[in-house]
Amino acid sequence: MADVPMYETVAWAKKSAADKFEKITIKRNLPGDDDVTFDLKYCGICHTDVHIANNDMGNTHYPCVPGHELAGIVSAVGKNVTKYKVGDKVGVGCISDSCMDCACCKDGDEHFCANGFTMTYDYDIKHGHMATDSGYSYGGYSASQTVNQRYLIKIPDDYPLEKAGPIFCAAITMYSPLAHWKVKEGGKKVGIIGIGGLGQFGVRLAKAMGNEVYAISTSPNKEAAAKQAGADNFVVSTDADSMKSAENSMDLILNTVSASHQLAHYLPLLKKDGTLVQLGLVLTDHQVQQFPLMMKRVSIAGSLIGGMPETQECMDFCAKNNIVPDTKVVKADELESVYEALSQKNDSIIRYVLDISASQ
Ligand SMILES: [Zn+2]
Ligand SMILES: [Zn+2]
Repeated sequence: MADVPMYETVAWAKKSAADKFEKITIKRNLPGDDDVTFDLKYCGICHTDVHIANNDMGNTHYPCVPGHELAGIVSAVGKNVTKYKVGDKVGVGCISDSCMDCACCKDGDEHFCANGFTMTYDYDIKHGHMATDSGYSYGGYSASQTVNQRYLIKIPDDYPLEKAGPIFCAAITMYSPLAHWKVKEGGKKVGIIGIGGLGQFGVRLAKAMGNEVYAISTSPNKEAAAKQAGADNFVVSTDADSMKSAENSMDLILNTVSASHQLAHYLPLLKKDGTLVQLGLVLTDHQVQQFPLMMKRVSIAGSLIGGMPETQECMDFCAKNNIVPDTKVVKADELESVYEALSQKNDSIIRYVLDISASQ
């Protein structure tokens, strides 16, 4: 897709880690036969955005336009597109492209694409289904986006557009393991470790599926929020008695903790054949002794967002069950203070959402 026709749109970018956000003009590809262009209305602000925009991993491309929780209204469709029409509410999450050809893509697990999926921002564009003037992806802090129809999610008409973005990142991260480890039909005991942006979705989803939910947190003051989200039980992970009271009880535990920790601390909570799923971005090692695994035949696993069909399923499930995140809508000139707040503290239940129309 080297020489495709492009259009200009505005975006909010950082030109270096030290710079503040500023409004710039970028170019994206005009919609090809299989593409959809949409006017962005809102984009969720994820904690990951802060890390990438600030070059915490050391490999950020600049100018950097973050945002992988996009929600907007279709403005143009290619001639092969039948599922979407102008005026539809749509979204894009973390995945904007993949090879479409490997076994994982064929299974609808684009997030495990053997040739590497293209993340919605700050990723080299290599599969040829999208283009920008820089050769790497620009995210959703922008007035317009074009993607292949495969990477779009249809937002149900009655779902509030400003609340949809976090579904494509936080909610799907929790939904996918709940589906994979078969607690979607309910009747199981599910633990959710960490009651922040991810955890609140975990509690709400697991509960809506009909499970008994244990919220697990280091801080006793999260109990009210956890119970409000629907948790049946609350476990303080730093309190030995509280942990003891929940021993051998859970079929599945989703661990959202992104700070350095030891996963073995939570294994006693699992019942026979239970699974602990690691979801946080923890880069330090865990020390695990195998004896506790053997004695209850428990598993330790990991999970990452979800593929496109499952993300749509998650969106539809949230709409049907009225699972709506707590959000705070902000404008582009508030990005610095939002980033500051997210850097200070990462366990808030509130998801910030950038109002694109109000920022222009
Ligand atoms: Zn995210
Ligand atoms: Zn693939």
